[in-house]
Amino acid sequence: MTARVLVVDDIKANVKLLEARLSAEYFEILTAYSGPEALEVCEVERIDVILLDVMMPGMDGFEVCERLKRNPKTQHIPVVMVTALDTPSDRLHGLEAGADDFLTKPVDDVALVTRVKNLARLKMLTDEMTMRAETGNQMGLSQETTPIFSERKWAGKVLIVEDNQRSADRMTKNLIKEHSIEIEHNPQEALFKLAEQEYDLLVISLDLNGVDGLRLASQVRSLERTRSLPILIIVNPEDKARLMRGLDMGVNDYMVRPICANEMMARVNTQVRRKKYTDYLRNCLETKVELAVTDALTGLHNRHYLESHLKTLFDEANSQRKSLSVLMTDIDYFKSVNDTYGHDVGDLVLKEFARRIRTNIRGMDLACRIGGEEFVIVMPDTSLTECYNVAERLRKSIEMEQFHIPQLDKPLDITTSIGITSLDKDIKDTDLLMKRADQALYCAKRDGRNRVAADAA
Ligand code: GH3
Ligand code: MG
Ligand code: MG
Repeated sequence: MTARVLVVDDIKANVKLLEARLSAEYFEILTAYSGPEALEVCEVERIDVILLDVMMPGMDGFEVCERLKRNPKTQHIPVVMVTALDTPSDRLHGLEAGADDFLTKPVDDVALVTRVKNLARLKMLTDEMTMRAETGNQMGLSQETTPIFSERKWAGKVLIVEDNQRSADRMTKNLIKEHSIEIEHNPQEALFKLAEQEYDLLVISLDLNGVDGLRLASQVRSLERTRSLPILIIVNPEDKARLMRGLDMGVNDYMVRPICANEMMARVNTQVRRKKYTDYLRNCLETKVELAVTDALTGLHNRHYLESHLKTLFDEANSQRKSLSVLMTDIDYFKSVNDTYGHDVGDLVLKEFARRIRTNIRGMDLACRIGGEEFVIVMPDTSLTECYNVAERLRKSIEMEQFHIPQLDKPLDITTSIGITSLDKDIKDTDLLMKRADQALYCAKRDGRNRVAADAA
């Protein structure tokens, strides 16, 4: 997907110039010639990054930026302020208005492309998170799994590699207000730290005494653990060649000395947010994998997981000539619980039932909810006799202790029927194993419920 960049400037020649440069990098360009026009475009079009001129007649860039950041519909669009008057107070004003980065006229090509790329990537991440949050809501997942990403400030853990103390102080000055900062003089030491701790951003000075900071950047990029750690390099104005090499090897952003504290703040914020968003999305993925194998109501494994994992346990038991038992249980007259007290109460009974299963099995046993009120426990290295003992213990733990449901005045009496079976030479596949357990369960029901029946075969 190509990023869509909106270029805003009251002077047509400026717009054309930026448009030409960015088109050459395959960005899709939209243009606006005033503040109000820019706001209008942002309302109706999908925009990924805005390049915003500060000095415009009528509504200036600061005001446009403020309005964009106040509007929930447009607040996630990253804004780059393009300033002619390059004073630190301008940048401070821009930051206060919510700007994400700055460019100074005449605009340098490398700076332009680097900044736009970084912010376009950040925007892609926020878009992705918005979509996930929407899907999550549709699926009824709770809000707590979605972060407050209208939050613009994320406190990051930043490691700065710089051996010049004055320069390090300059960099830290503002950052320390929002981030946790560590200074390291020696790149080798920095690498050790990075291997051991989790950082959100690495800042490397390329002006280190006797060592090349780019070496560290390249090591960080080649190590699995740190491959996706954002890197910001600090270069001297005459050091364009090394800057280009850095960008080529995957450094994310750069700053040119002398360091402007406000600019530093903007760059660091962008990289930290990007890191946090990426981590968040990765966690979502892990949660999703988790969701795919667990039953949401009870937290036990689901049928899908049982089906895929039972085969492995079955094969292992056969090849090692070990026993393997299966316990299948179904709550008695559960329909009447729902009919009498409602589905919500039914759900709470299922949860408590699952909890009791969990307390009655070993870690290596596999407990699954395979249907409404039906559960299966697969027990590796367990004989039929041992399985019977577990089944009896479980049956009693359900029968003997009433179910306390908060919204009911009196506790419920619940019982369950259990069928058990074990691997023997006649059982050639997992389907038959499950079928035997199911038949045993049927016998337990038929013979009066609240009992354990072993497969007769
Ligand atoms: P039996 O002793 O023969 O097992 O009787 P039963 O009522 O338990 O059996 P039946 O299979 O007729 O009913 C099972 C009920 O389980 C039907 C359905 O209302 C309920 N059920 C299935 N899934 C859920 C669920 O996720 N939550 C709740 N609350 N109830 C469920
Ligand atoms: Mg039942
Ligand atoms: Mg049933």
